Order: sequence, then structure tokens, then C-alpha cells
Amino acid sequence: MDFFPIFIDIRQKPVLVVGGGEVASRKVALLREAQARVRIVAPELCPALEDLRQKDAIDYRAGYYQDSDLEDCHLVIAATDNDTVNQRISNQAQQRRIPVNAVDQPEYCSFIVPSIIDRSPVVAAVSTGGASPVLARLIRTRLESLIPAGYGRLADLARRFRDKVKARVPFDQRRRFWEKVLSGGVAERVFAGQMEEAEAAMDRALEDSASPSPMGEVYLVGGGPGDPDLLTFRALRLMQQADVVVYDRLVAKAILDLSRRDAERIYVGKERSHHAMRQEEINELLARLAKEGKKVVRLKGGDPFIFGRGGEEIHTLAEQGIPFQVVPAITAASGCAAYAGIPLTHRDYAQSVTFVTGHLKDGTMNLNWEQLAQPRQTVVFYMGLVGLPVICKELTAHGVSPDMPIALVQQGTTEKQRVFKGTLGTIQEIVAREHPKPPTLIIVGKVVELHERLSWYKAPQHPQKGATSPVGPGPEVLKLEA
Ligand code: SAH
Repeated sequence: MDFFPIFIDIRQKPVLVVGGGEVASRKVALLREAQARVRIVAPELCPALEDLRQKDAIDYRAGYYQDSDLEDCHLVIAATDNDTVNQRISNQAQQRRIPVNAVDQPEYCSFIVPSIIDRSPVVAAVSTGGASPVLARLIRTRLESLIPAGYGRLADLARRFRDKVKARVPFDQRRRFWEKVLSGGVAERVFAGQMEEAEAAMDRALEDSASPSPMGEVYLVGGGPGDPDLLTFRALRLMQQADVVVYDRLVAKAILDLSRRDAERIYVGKERSHHAMRQEEINELLARLAKEGKKVVRLKGGDPFIFGRGGEEIHTLAEQGIPFQVVPAITAASGCAAYAGIPLTHRDYAQSVTFVTGHLKDGTMNLNWEQLAQPRQTVVFYMGLVGLPVICKELTAHGVSPDMPIALVQQGTTEKQRVFKGTLGTIQEIVAREHPKPPTLIIVGKVVELHERLSWYKAPQHPQKGATSPVGPGPEVLKLEA
């Protein structure tokens, strides 16, 4: 280790920055975050620093660096573009035992400024010892995604409860206690901004630390349309903490595999017409698992509140007083549209978009067809493959031209994605020939025409039998991999 990492208190202490350009300005911003009294010496200031000077947020001496500028300083930053000057500042500061940093010149530095992740009071700092600031920044970016934005609030909460925990939890159990609250339900409430609930949960955890079976909780987590990269940070974090994952058919395997390895996995089906478990049974299962003290992730495809029956599941939990959270996700319409290059709205083609269910009940769809047939909109049908003939028939019967473009996106965002494009008049023929695999999403509207121009995603698919490019005239079939 070439540098000893420390965090230094410079609140209200004079810190000298030599230089008035953009580089100096970035350092000044950091020093001000740490509440230092910033003194700048430079012949002139860039606009951002000039702005600070006018607000009296910095002390400023116009002119070139002089040795006397170091007087009383606790730290020095040399941020001039003159190598000789930076070196001189460095030498003089080191003679006086004042820590000095010359920006991007490790040879003149007695300390280096790390890349930081600021969740005050939690601060993580990354340094490559001056070897590669860009690498430090890349590592920082990775850490940023691992450290939830609410960590600062969590640290505050921990500070407030420190004495209470000391008094109530015996020493040998304390570390486990903190691990549990800082990575479990208390922390998740803090991240969700529910501070009062977090404090109540903290009190409960203190009580439970004496009792053998504390209450668990349920996270209703949206897993997105299929590509694991589209998961949210929160979804991933909760999946990695789960004791049990309750999932259904729509959840891609690649996503399920990101759950904690030793979590119990319960499949609750939901295939068309043969549900592995009835909705009421699922609702009760979630409640029962939570009452056993488990952290339950109810993992659903897409967004839990869009055709996901998420509302019903948490209704049961709310009734029974079981704590829960809902984690939103990218819904199939957004995922499929983006990956198929079909903007759902567009200034020239569609001023609104409607998501409807194309699920058939007794062979019909109880939809407001008149409204769905209006021009200048996009209509997205979930669960519409079986009902496709009804969709085409009703839309044309309500005045939509049979030439209206329609796209059917199979297994959108996954490596098996395929896009079938046609018109209301031709799409059934295409489906009959190509046998798209569920899940499929149907997009109706002029925006579908943009698909050829805007499509970018290439699914590395496994070609299916009979799914070759169309030969000769006939309805157009577009596959993402020709
Ligand atoms: N809650 C989910 C929707 C559940 S309804 C969401 O927000 O996406 C199930 C329907 O969603 C399927 O019948 C299909 O129409 C659509 N769907 C879900 N994932 C899909 C995918 N990857 N590709 C195409 N359609 C998908």
C-alpha cells in the first residue's frame, strides 16, 4: 500500500486551492461538500468560481501564487496548468508538513483525492494510488450501483438506535443483529423513504431479538420482460436476500437464477388455462410464508401492477397486517417496443398509447372498441395471441383500415425475440404460418412502420423450424436475425 487511506475533518478549516480553472472548480466543489473554508489564489476565475466568489462562498486573492499563501492552511491543492508552479507549491507545502495534492501529477502529491461515493455520513473512497484515476472512477460507478441511495439515512438511523441496541442486545448477538437489520426489512423501508415504518420495524426487531419467530415480509418484485439487464437494482438486491422466491411462468430463467442460491423456489404456474395454483392459493401462500418469518420475494414477469394481479396479492397481505413492498419494473410493452424499435408514441404517428388485455373470456373481449379504433394512437394488447382474430375483426369493424400496421413481438428482450410485422388484414396468415411462441405482445398503430428503420436489437436466436425468411410475394415476416 503506497498511500494510507484516511478521512480528514476539514470543516471550517482553511484550505488553499491554487488555480482558477475548471479543474480547480471541481476540487473546490468537493472541498465545499466537506465544509472547508476554501481560499483561492489565481490571476482569474472561471465562471463557476466567479459565481461562488460573488456569493462570498470562497476567499479569493487575484494574482499569482506566493509562498505566504500557505499560511495557516490545512491542505493545499495545486491546480494550475503550470508544471513548475505546481512543483514549487508541492515542495513548499511538504517542507511545512502541509498535505498537498497536485491534480493529475502524482509525483508532486503527498496525498491523493480518491473517487468517492457519497451517501453521507457513509462515504466510500476508491483509489488506485494515482495509477489510473479513470479506473478508480469505473470502480466507483460499479459501487454506486451496489450502494443504494438511502444508505446515508440508514446510517443515521443506526446512529440513533446505537445506544438502545447496546442496552437490549447482548454483545455476542449484536453483530448478527446489526447485519440483519441493515440488510433486511428495516433497511428496505429506509430505502423506500418510509422512515417512521423503519423506526417501528427497528423497535420490533429489538423486541423480536428476544423472541424465536419474528414476522417476515413480502416483496412483490417485477422481474421485467426477460433480459436480466433490465432488472432494477432494488429487485436484484431483494432477490439476493430472499428466503423464498415464489415465481410464475413468465419469469425468465436467467432472472430467476439471480435469486439467492439457497433460497427456496416455489413455482406457482399460471400457464394459460391450467394454472398450477389458483390466485387465492397464491395469496394465502405468501401470507403463510411471511408469518413463518420468511423474507418472501414474489417474483413476477414485467411490472407487478400491469396485468399482474399484484394488487390482489398485496390486498390479502394488507388485510392480514403483513409488511410488504412493491418493486416496479419494465413492463412488456416498454421492453418489447424498445427492443423491436417501435416507439410507442411519436409526434407524427401517435399521441397516446393504451395498454389493454386481449385475454378472451367466453370467446370475446370486453373492450371499448370504438375508443381503440380512434386514429393517432398506439394500442398494445397483452395476452392477445389467442384472441388475435377477434382483435383484427373488431378493429376493422370499428373503422380501422385493414392496412393498419400491426406487430407481434415474441419473447421480447430475450434471445428468442422475434418480431412479426404485418397488417390487420395479413397478420393472421403470418401467425398461422410462423407459430409465434408465447409470451407475445401485440402492437397496433402507425408507429409499427418505424420498426425497420429503428430496430437495433439482434437476438442471438436459435432458428426455429419453418421460421425462415419469406420467399416470393406474400405477407411480410420480419425476423430479427435473417
Ligand atoms: N405484468 C406483466 C404482464 C403480465 S400479462 C408486464 O408488465 O409485462 C402476460 C402477458 O404479458 C403475456 O401474455 C404477453 O402478452 C406479455 N408479455 C410479458 N412478457 C413478455 C415478453 N417478454 N414478450 C412479449 N410479451 C410479453
